[in-house]
Amino acid sequence: MTYQASGASTGTLRGERTAPSARPTFADLDLLNPLLDALHQRGYETPTPIQAQAIPLLLDGRDLLGVAQTGTGKTAAFALPMLDILSDPYRDLAPGRPRGLVLTPTRELASQVADNFEAYGRHLEIESTVLFGGVNQNPQVRRLKRGVDVLVATPGRLLDLMGQGHVDLCEVEIFVLDEADRMLDMGFLRDVRRIVDALPTKRQSLLFSATMPPEIAALAHTMLVDPVRIEVTPPSTTVERIEQTVHFVEKQRKRALLVEILENRSIDRVLVFSRTKHGANHLVRHLVKHGIQAAALHGNKSQAARERALAGFRTGSVRALVATDIAARGLDVPGITHVINFDLPNVPESYVHRIGRTARAGREGVAISFCDGSELGYLKDIEREIRQRLDTVGEPPAARPAQTSGGGGRGRSNGGRRSGGRHRGTRGRQASTGRSRGGTRRRARRRR
Ligand code: AMP
Repeated sequence: MTYQASGASTGTLRGERTAPSARPTFADLDLLNPLLDALHQRGYETPTPIQAQAIPLLLDGRDLLGVAQTGTGKTAAFALPMLDILSDPYRDLAPGRPRGLVLTPTRELASQVADNFEAYGRHLEIESTVLFGGVNQNPQVRRLKRGVDVLVATPGRLLDLMGQGHVDLCEVEIFVLDEADRMLDMGFLRDVRRIVDALPTKRQSLLFSATMPPEIAALAHTMLVDPVRIEVTPPSTTVERIEQTVHFVEKQRKRALLVEILENRSIDRVLVFSRTKHGANHLVRHLVKHGIQAAALHGNKSQAARERALAGFRTGSVRALVATDIAARGLDVPGITHVINFDLPNVPESYVHRIGRTARAGREGVAISFCDGSELGYLKDIEREIRQRLDTVGEPPAARPAQTSGGGGRGRSNGGRRSGGRHRGTRGRQASTGRSRGGTRRRARRRR
């Protein structure tokens, strides 16, 4: 069964075309009152399209294939029904035996998802915690021993702790695989399959992915039983609210251009993307030398340094966070006014994810991309991906071969300042991977 976000042009928080009165409120979704109170305290009154569609189906115990990316409200779409179903003051809280499991590809996303569980579940009897690598495992093990209902984890650390006997997944009732395509990109698919194999066969399963490459469609087919498919936003369309420009610039002028741009103090909180970790470190040193508070976020940094950088960025003591693509997805820092692509990504989809870090939760945002002669092919690939011509500033540099593989490197003849014709893409939809187990639903929804 496939659902589309009805009346929603993009499925993002501001993308609605439906009249407000036609939309359900959270109270219409049959969620427990303590959850409604927590939502109210967070200031959320109206469910986003994915929430409005997914929550009733999940409360009914259905499996779900969600084709959606961050920014659509997908975390609450799975966290709210999980909390609703799993909260039970009379349950046995067995050490290391969670009843809900959420797998995410990165530590940052894991902490964000865990924070959401904390916030939404604050008035419920429910224990949740987060596991990820790069930090001492002992506090995590101690927390597991006290018993948890919901575990949010990255695959590596979870498998480690399972191997050491600290986690047993035999009681998982609800399993969420978040950002499945990112798991694939990061080479975690084998780990994910090992974890899925350790789950009980009787369970409710949810898989979220921004895109549906064949490997993920195959995984969905084995993991989900008779799933409903909800597709809220093709990845290319969230970019509509973001003012995007490309600055043509020689490679050696990029750092100076960045400093010039950041002289504008209205650029308050800026996320700068560098293709390499080394480049990110280098750039941070350059910015700091020019009096701009900056920090780096990438996979070579220790977990403590990553957390410090993010905390500084959230509180405003760090104005420019220079990151590799590790931060392109999932990172949800409110108030990022600008995203600057210091280097264009060689995977065009990354562009969409990167710039999606601004314009969060219905705000506007600005994305500026630097493009040197070796990146013209990447620019062309990006414009094809987003089905949009980007406004450009400056003269296009002479085409040079790209330095890394996996992207374009092809030259482009048009140049000068062009006006970007904006039109929404209509990407091909994948066929539903739904298949029926052929029996009645294993779990009738408990009504309280
Ligand atoms: P997500 O796609 O889960 O990363 O959510 C994107 C952002 O939207 C996060 O900052 C959420 O806290 C926020 N959000 C989620 N649901 C709602 C809602 N119903 N109303 C307003 N904001 C929301």
